[in-house]
Amino acid sequence: MNDYDKPPELYDGLRLHPQPDFIFPLDDVLAAITPSTRVVFITNPNNPTGVAVAQTAIQRVAREVPSEAVVFVDETYAEFAGHTFIPDLGRFPNVVVGHSFSKAFGLAGLRAGALVGHPDLMATLRRAVPVYSLNAAAVAALQAAISDREYLRNYLSQVKKSKALLYAACDRLGLKYWRSAANFVLVRTPGGTANLVALAAERDIYLRDQSREPGCSDCVRMTTGIVEHTRRGIAVLEELLCAAR
Ligand SMILES: *Cc1c(COP(=O)(O)O)cnc(C)c1O
Repeated sequence: MNDYDKPPELYDGLRLHPQPDFIFPLDDVLAAITPSTRVVFITNPNNPTGVAVAQTAIQRVAREVPSEAVVFVDETYAEFAGHTFIPDLGRFPNVVVGHSFSKAFGLAGLRAGALVGHPDLMATLRRAVPVYSLNAAAVAALQAAISDREYLRNYLSQVKKSKALLYAACDRLGLKYWRSAANFVLVRTPGGTANLVALAAERDIYLRDQSREPGCSDCVRMTTGIVEHTRRGIAVLEELLCAAR
């Protein structure tokens, strides 16, 4: 059983009670910090909700952790959100920002990412990084991807349009959704997720069942990338939900 298979109630002991609308639970996080805390992970924007965390909340956590502790900010979806903690790192030498090339740069599977932080902290982390952790093919792909600004610009604009289309469809269908700062949207679907996910898959639309995540009962996560794909996903969602009514 991996973490994703655990029913939500098993999270209770870990004090993971999502706030209404998945607002970052700053007070709960601060209350959970003890003198033995060594690392706090914050995912911004969050996956699977897409909800963004205020930079001031991250600053607050960074100020409150013990001096030996590190705050890791997972910014895998930061390109879509349009903001990053990186400019603040000079003032917060106990924060490390993690970026991935799997999402906005389209290089999933290459296992390539970047950590950004204060040089002293990076020197410590570097001791734990294996030599040759990046292979030559990944380096070649990274150089091409980073210099292809047009691809990134175009994909970001597709994501923005896709999210607007999905929000409008959810409004039409009366579905609850959460406005996302990432390239996916969490949608609450009445009548359970298992059937919907299976029937959508038969139509080549792959929805991610998130119903077992805390606070996410009846929720699926729909990717909002390429507009043409989103339109097709929305058509299938409308077909299946209207048939079920
Ligand atoms: C996709 C993802 C990652 C990183 O993916 P890699 O392919 O290993 O770079 C990290 N954090 C979150 C929240 C993700 O969704």
